[in-house]
Amino acid sequence: MDAPAIPLGFGPAAQRDLRGRVLRDLRISVVDRCNFRCPYCMPEDQYPRDHEFLSKAERLRFEEIERLTRIFATLGVHKLRLTGGEPLLRRDLPELVRKLAAVPGIDDVALTTNGSLLAPQAQALREAGLQRITLSLDTIVPETFRRMSGGRGEVGVVLEAIAAAERAGFAPLKLNVVVMRGTNDDEVLGLLERFRGSGHIVRFIEYMDVGTCNDWRRDLVVPSAELRARIAARWPLRELEPNYGGEVARRYAFADGGGEIGFISSVTEPFCGDCSRARLSADGRLYTCLFAGSGHDLRGPLRAGIGDAELAGLIRAVWSAREDRYSELRSEATSASREHVEMYAIGG
Ligand code: SAM
Ligand code: SF4
Ligand code: SF4
Repeated sequence: MDAPAIPLGFGPAAQRDLRGRVLRDLRISVVDRCNFRCPYCMPEDQYPRDHEFLSKAERLRFEEIERLTRIFATLGVHKLRLTGGEPLLRRDLPELVRKLAAVPGIDDVALTTNGSLLAPQAQALREAGLQRITLSLDTIVPETFRRMSGGRGEVGVVLEAIAAAERAGFAPLKLNVVVMRGTNDDEVLGLLERFRGSGHIVRFIEYMDVGTCNDWRRDLVVPSAELRARIAARWPLRELEPNYGGEVARRYAFADGGGEIGFISSVTEPFCGDCSRARLSADGRLYTCLFAGSGHDLRGPLRAGIGDAELAGLIRAVWSAREDRYSELRSEATSASREHVEMYAIGG
C-alpha cells in the first residue's frame, strides 16, 4: 500500500465543510444484515427472510476498511464507531478492531451492538483494543423487548451481554433506548430503576425518520423534554456540561447521585451545528449525513487501484462540499424528502 501523501508528522489537517464543521468521527457499518427486525429500523414486513442484503464481495474487506481508516485519520478523524446492521454478524470482528486500533491517529474505537451476540466475544474485543461499547436496549420488559426486536430477540440474552461486557472491562456502558409513544415509553422508569446506580449511562433517543420503511409518524415521537419531565418528577435531575463539542447527547445527572443519563433529540432539539461525523456504509459509500439520500462511492476507486493521495483528495472534496443539516431543516420543511438511506445500511 502507498504511504499516505499527507505528512503525518505535522498532525492531521483539519477538514472543514461549508459550514465550518471539522471531520472528526467516522462511523463504519461493517455489515448491512441484522438478526433483529426492530420496527423503527428494519420492520419485518419490509425485510422478509429472503431479502437480498450485500454479498460478501460487495462488502468492504477488512484490509479495505483499514486502508480507508488510515486515510481518514490523516484528514483529522480520531474516533471510530463500528456499527451495522448488527456488527457482530461480521465474522472475526476482533481482527478488524485490532487493525483499526493500530492506525496512527485513531485514539478511540467503539462499537454499537444489539447485544445478542456479544457475550462470547466481549473479552476478545477488549483484548483487540476496543475501548467502548454502546448496547441497544429499548426495554427490560420481556414481551415488549420481543416485539421491539421483531420477534427475534430475548432481553435475558442482552442482560447477560451487559454482564459479560462488565466482566471484560467495558463498564461504564452506554445503553441506547429508542422511545416510541405507546410502545415502550411507559417502561422507561422501570428501565431506569434497574440501571440507576449501576454506573451505566442510559440514553434516550427520539424515534427518528431515518430510512424510508419505518412509517415514521411524528405523533409516535416522545419529545425529550416530555420524557425528561416524567423522569425528573420521580428522580430530580440536574444538567451536566457536555464532555466535548459536538456531543450528540445532552447529559443529566440524578440529583441524588444515582448516575448519569442522556437524551439524543434529533427531532426536537437538532444538533447539526457542530456535527463532525462521516459514515461509511458496508459497501464503501461515504455519507456525510444520517439522512442523506445518497453516498459517494469509495469502493470503486479503491478497487480500481487509486493511490492514497488521490483517495484522500476525493474524501476531502466530499467533506469540503458538505452542507448537510437535515434535522435543523426537518422542522421547517412542509414535506420532508423520503429519499433517505436506510439506518441499517449506515448504522446510526
Ligand atoms: N444493530 C446495532 C444496534 O441496534 O445497536 C447497531 C446498528 S443500529 C442502526 C444503531 C442505533 O440506531 C441503535 O441504537 C438503534 O436503536 C438506533 N436506531 C435505529 N433506527 C432508529 C430510529 N428510527 N430512530 C432512532 N434510533 C434508531
Ligand atoms: Fe438491527 Fe440495530 Fe436496526 Fe435493530 S436497530 S434492526 S438491531 S440494525
Ligand atoms: Fe449531522 Fe445530518 Fe444528524 Fe444534522 S441531521 S446532526 S448533519 S447527521
